[in-house]
Amino acid sequence: MRSLTDLSLREKKVIVRVDFNVPIDDNFKIIDDRRILAAIPTIKLLIKKGAKVILMSHLGRPKNGPENNFSLKHLVSHLSDVLNTPVRFSNDCVGNDVQKMVNNLKIGEVLLLENLRFYSQEKDGDVEFAKQLANLADVYVNDAFGAAHRAHASTSIIAQFFPENKFFGLLLKNELDCLKKALYSAKRPFTAIIGGAKITGKIDLITALFDKVDNLIVGGGMAYTFAKAIGGNIGKSLVENKKIPLAKNLVDEAKNKGVNLILPTDSVNADNFSNDAELHVSSIKKIDSNYIGLDIGPESIRSFSEIILNSKTIIWNGPMGVFEMSNFESGTKEIANAICLATERGGFSLVGGGDSVAAIKQFGLVRKVSYMSTGGGAMLKYLEGKKLPGVEAILS
Ligand code: AMP
Repeated sequence: MRSLTDLSLREKKVIVRVDFNVPIDDNFKIIDDRRILAAIPTIKLLIKKGAKVILMSHLGRPKNGPENNFSLKHLVSHLSDVLNTPVRFSNDCVGNDVQKMVNNLKIGEVLLLENLRFYSQEKDGDVEFAKQLANLADVYVNDAFGAAHRAHASTSIIAQFFPENKFFGLLLKNELDCLKKALYSAKRPFTAIIGGAKITGKIDLITALFDKVDNLIVGGGMAYTFAKAIGGNIGKSLVENKKIPLAKNLVDEAKNKGVNLILPTDSVNADNFSNDAELHVSSIKKIDSNYIGLDIGPESIRSFSEIILNSKTIIWNGPMGVFEMSNFESGTKEIANAICLATERGGFSLVGGGDSVAAIKQFGLVRKVSYMSTGGGAMLKYLEGKKLPGVEAILS
């Protein structure tokens, strides 16, 4: 398959689906520009190749058409700063005015289109809307890994209008290469660490990982459902009672498949859901009836860390506790430290999902893991063995 780096793109109009869905505050200041920065190598490559670059993205969840809060115009000046080049902005993403702006683009110039989701057709995967976007350009590039699990007009449907001229951007290709490396050529032992609030949403992931990993560590809120399933008293901890039979099945399935499923043995408990709460540590199976388990305990940190330090490939998705509160951050912080140390010793580590990435940032460990994915949902889907419409559309 031809790659973007091999192409001659001089004077070509190239439309790039980027994922600029970044958090912005009430004054429209960007809180975290990681997704913008991640797309810069592709944009710079296109500029260097003399292309006319058209960028399209979604931002937030506008409900009924245009909303100032979700306008991509708020990103223009920052994008222009990090690219070190002026960025033009179009108040719409389709229509005659956009066409005129595109026709006026000169070699190496960059135009950002307004939020695609101001049109409901974007999420609906509308073919006509996709065609209108496609008509703006000669070449289509998808660099939006964060949206690759969606079959939207700009992420997937549009590709059919570029049968010979559709490509992965550098970021999307790199994401796929890292995921493939972890899943299909993992050095062993291979350990997955899954945390977060609930089992719901991660069942397919856990089941799929049973066929790949040697160790599967479970922490976070979901661990309490497992603890209850194996007969523990978990007090007022988060529990999904309907998922208890499933948790039991997962424990059995791990045994049958020879996977080492590791649950926390102890828990940091609080008498209410606050950082000022009264705390005590207990076995995860013996939590006082008035207490809530909000983090893994020191014994679990030690046993999890030992396994992580012995691993050569590590995937992490989801925090070990309510790391947003300092009294319950230790589990997540120490597990993150162990992952970084294992990486320093030559292991390959892949971190994904909004909260794990936020935790890595919070603890100042950004450069110490092998790869931080820009897509939580897309990464999960890929690890579940599901096809990503944004990827398939380029490959087909
Ligand atoms: P998720 O979106 O499923 O990955 O869940 C992430 C959220 O899970 C974070 O906001 C954590 O605060 C929360 N979380 C982690 N551990 C617990 C716990 N023991 N009880 C309640 N919430 C938790």
